[in-house]
Amino acid sequence: MGPLCEGELSLSQLILILGIIGLFCLYFLFKRKEPKQEKASVEMIKCLTCGVNIPKSEAVGSKEGWFCSEEHRS
Ligand SMILES: [Zn+2]
Repeated sequence: MGPLCEGELSLSQLILILGIIGLFCLYFLFKRKEPKQEKASVEMIKCLTCGVNIPKSEAVGSKEGWFCSEEHRS
């Protein structure tokens, strides 16, 4: 009776450990899939003078609109 009980215990422990490993594997797989928005879409604007498309961060803004450079703004 004794050895049989020990055998069952170790088997259930093995299943538990495998289950925990499986859960960790699933957790890391899902975690790795999540952050895939590295390329944040850059907002493009059009220069009112020459019509060229440039990122908003590089554009010159004014009341009239957006321009590619200070020269085109005036
Ligand atoms: Zn321009």
